[in-house]
Amino acid sequence: MKILINGSKGRMGQAVAAAAKLAGLEISAECDIGETFTEADVAACDCAVDFSFHEASPELAEACARAGKPLVIGTTGHTAAERARIEAAAEKIPIVWAGNYSVGVNVLNWLVGKAARLLDPSFEIEIVEMHHRHKKDAPSGTAEKLLAIVESARGCDKSVEKHGRAGIVGERCREEIGVHALRGGSVVGDHAVIFAGEGERVELIHRAESRAIFANGAIRAAQWVCGGKAPGIYGMEAVLGLE
Ligand code: NAD
Repeated sequence: MKILINGSKGRMGQAVAAAAKLAGLEISAECDIGETFTEADVAACDCAVDFSFHEASPELAEACARAGKPLVIGTTGHTAAERARIEAAAEKIPIVWAGNYSVGVNVLNWLVGKAARLLDPSFEIEIVEMHHRHKKDAPSGTAEKLLAIVESARGCDKSVEKHGRAGIVGERCREEIGVHALRGGSVVGDHAVIFAGEGERVELIHRAESRAIFANGAIRAAQWVCGGKAPGIYGMEAVLGLE
């Protein structure tokens, strides 16, 4: 199986190249700024993998649609217009598009959804995430996804979120969902979801130790999407059979 990597000089592009080699895949093209993919590059691959910059993904999706090649998008931060162009391309080809390719985080998402439905609302939910000191946004995209999962399971909206506490904040409301972002050191990414009940507590935790986990998940997605999937957009839930 031959893959085209877009954003090949980046941290993730290099991790994807390493994971592809370990998985026995051939890299048919490594593309980045100044070495933009050509129609011939896209035609020569079995699947394109994009970990570049949000502006670059729609163009690659459209080239893949023209060539009839599946695509795996890891890049984040797309605008609404860019998302619409990718969605239009997905009418012609299958696209796996996930904000987090870690197999463990996707299993965490699934477990958190199950726990939020199985544990009654007397179990109060707090989400804690920790990342390295260089991270610029908070909470993390993965914490946002966890929030969406518990809010959907509990049938509530974002108004229940409590981002940090300081001062005389009063007693906790039962439906509140606390969110806390810790920053420091070289932490790749930790996420904990705590369900605190009367006399017992369930804690679901994922700790990322290396970017290789995202690259391995993206390679798994590339292998899955090359297996004759229908056009459309798929998440890692579909790749892992978690749906
Ligand atoms: P990075 O800055 O190290 O690498 C990005 C690479 O893309 C650079 O080499 C850059 O030159 C290249 N690039 C920029 N514009 C381009 C263009 N128009 N065409 C081709 N290449 C272009 O960043 P990174 O840490 O490797 O992350 C890349 C993307 O992947 C980010 O959007 C990040 O949020 C996302 N990411 C996703 C996951 C996931 O699991 N989905 C995990 C980690 C990172």
